[in-house]
Amino acid sequence: MKIIMLGAPGAGKGTQAKMIAEKYAIPHISTGDIFRANIKEGTKLGEEAKQYMDQGLLVPDELTVKILLDRVAKEDCRNGYVLDGFPRTIPQAEVLDQALNGLGDKIDYAIDVNVPDENIIKRMSGRRACLSCGATYHVEHIPPQKEGICDTCGEKLVLRDDDKPETVQNRLHVYHEQTQPLIDFYTQKGILKAVDGTKDMEAVFHSIVSILE
Ligand code: ADP
Ligand code: ADP
Ligand code: ZN
Repeated sequence: MKIIMLGAPGAGKGTQAKMIAEKYAIPHISTGDIFRANIKEGTKLGEEAKQYMDQGLLVPDELTVKILLDRVAKEDCRNGYVLDGFPRTIPQAEVLDQALNGLGDKIDYAIDVNVPDENIIKRMSGRRACLSCGATYHVEHIPPQKEGICDTCGEKLVLRDDDKPETVQNRLHVYHEQTQPLIDFYTQKGILKAVDGTKDMEAVFHSIVSILE
């Protein structure tokens, strides 16, 4: 099963993608996590990506597409995967489509986690991220067991540089301009499924599972 998660920054794509990945035993692939891991390791890719990410802008398609295609070509992706944060532009979606087409394959579902902009800013300021394993928490809604520490790996949690309110505004703008058109793109392909992302984490997951089953 190949799944794409769509939705504004902070809609809960990552949270849901992790749960889907676990339930269906497929990899969770987040381009944002891949970039952050590279920034942490100080690679050239990380250095380049950071310049865009810090401003709330998208990393250029050429760079992003190459990373994603390399990742989905790996052995663990044979039975499917859940993509979180890719594609974010029509050209990215087209390249993915063509690559899969060439393999006689396709995306099964594009799930739009729908959350209005008003809710997003609040969610983002409370988000805490583990840069080691990619887990995310929320100080009120989804707190870790021990404050400031990742349940999964024990690393310290951080407020991401790009989760400050000014940058979140930019990212929402970029989302509406460049990513939202994907909703029409996948509607036309007949695979778009929308869920109400304002409900609590378990309720959203329940809606997604009913779509997949
Ligand atoms: P969020 O969880 O808030 O949706 P992500 O972790 O997915 O954020 O992405 C963080 C940043 O990484 C984005 O704002 C963007 O700069 C960059 N990025 C991630 N995925 C992509 C992509 N597919 N195309 C371009 N830039 C990307
Ligand atoms: P995205 O990957 O779309 O940027 P995340 O999954 O990182 O979004 O979620 C953004 C923030 O909102 C995080 O702090 C997360 O813990 C929290 N969150 C996720 N899902 C919900 C939900 N259903 N209700 C309330 N908060 C949520
Ligand atoms: Zn962790």
